[in-house]
Amino acid sequence: MTKTLVIGAGGVGSVAVHKMAMLPDIFTDITLASRRQFKCDEIAGSVLERTGVSIKTARIDADDADATARLIQACGAKLVVNLALPYQDLSIMDACLMAGADYLDTANYEPPEEAKFEYSWQWAYQEKFAKQGLMALLGSGFDPGVTNVFTAYTKKHLIADMRTLDILDCNGGDHGQHFATNFNPEINIREVTAPSRHWQDKKWIETPALTTKQNFDFPEVGARNMYLMYHEELESLVTHFPEIERARFWMTFGDAYLKHLEVLQNVGMTSIEPVIYEGQEIIPLQFLKAVLPNPGDLGKTTTGKTCIGTIISGSDNGQDKTAYIYNICDHEACFKEVGSQAVSYTTGVPAMIGAAMMLGGKWRGEGVFNMEQFDPDPFMDMLNQHGLPWQYVMLEKPLAF
Ligand code: NDP
Repeated sequence: MTKTLVIGAGGVGSVAVHKMAMLPDIFTDITLASRRQFKCDEIAGSVLERTGVSIKTARIDADDADATARLIQACGAKLVVNLALPYQDLSIMDACLMAGADYLDTANYEPPEEAKFEYSWQWAYQEKFAKQGLMALLGSGFDPGVTNVFTAYTKKHLIADMRTLDILDCNGGDHGQHFATNFNPEINIREVTAPSRHWQDKKWIETPALTTKQNFDFPEVGARNMYLMYHEELESLVTHFPEIERARFWMTFGDAYLKHLEVLQNVGMTSIEPVIYEGQEIIPLQFLKAVLPNPGDLGKTTTGKTCIGTIISGSDNGQDKTAYIYNICDHEACFKEVGSQAVSYTTGVPAMIGAAMMLGGKWRGEGVFNMEQFDPDPFMDMLNQHGLPWQYVMLEKPLAF
């Protein structure tokens, strides 16, 4: 009997528990807890209807580590899957240490008052987890997550000496709204408006946000503009694969999205500095989140596909090679299967697979780990079996830019 506690009843949490319920041999007992219990109950209803499996629900404020530890003990969880927000990572890790449970998340810890996107705080838990014989797996979403596993797979099977890494994240979907974000708006806008950083010749190069653009023809999606950005997996990948000389992350944005974002930024609505409004302190970005469409509700109207992958160049057996590994995911097919759009789906499925790797003992270690530190093969197999099939092509030349 392996008991799993999932925290966070948002878009990603919903997909993860639906997919866990489809594997009752691995996930024999699932509890979904979040800040508002009615959201957990709604998801539990959908899981029952779609899979015939009953999951338990609970209310928790995961900022409270003591209360979270009590909940972990009460439901007897061996593993806690954190699909709340990055602000809760450390309190949930503390709760796991108190209750003696393993930990998994999909995004690095963020201090609420400053956008940082770095692993330092969580890597600092290495000894605490190791000392108790517990394991924490960081960043088991798509990017970070699957992109780290794609990189490990490329090194293991295709290009032993990797020199350059480009991660290309394309959402070719259309949700029919003037402006909306595909996952939590606050986290998404913090990420997109942060200065860009990429790894070049063993150091970080910083450039202003959204100023470096390239056009790329994505398989099954077509040509799209993509922009250089910083993304947290770059830090762990250049740490664990020090041979990588250049690492970059690109994300596609449409002109309408960028125009809205520019205006919102210019008028101060994307700021995380508190302002006083009618005697009350508010954070403009949190207020903006309250008026934007809920990403969880976009599934009904979203059409099109996502295409996320890695292009890696280097040499293998003395030969120069470039490999492009990618997954294509269809928004409407995801909605039909689990009631969510592809951005939640491409994050929730790898969270489920990471949890399955840990519960089944295929990935095991004591301490804090990133995805690329384990054998990519069993994870890649499960991607193919559980809704995120991947393929690779060998390109004739490295990227021209
Ligand atoms: P949502 O905002 O849809 O969901 C977050 C959920 O967490 C909500 O149900 C929210 O509750 C709950 N929550 C927030 N604070 C607390 C708290 N203190 N205690 C308990 N529950 C809390 O976000 P998403 O589902 O879109 O994203 C979830 C995570 O996945 C985020 O960390 C995001 O950064 C990450 N992500 C990772 C990706 C990857 O590829 N690696 C891609 C996309 C997302 P309430 O409903 O009450 O607000």
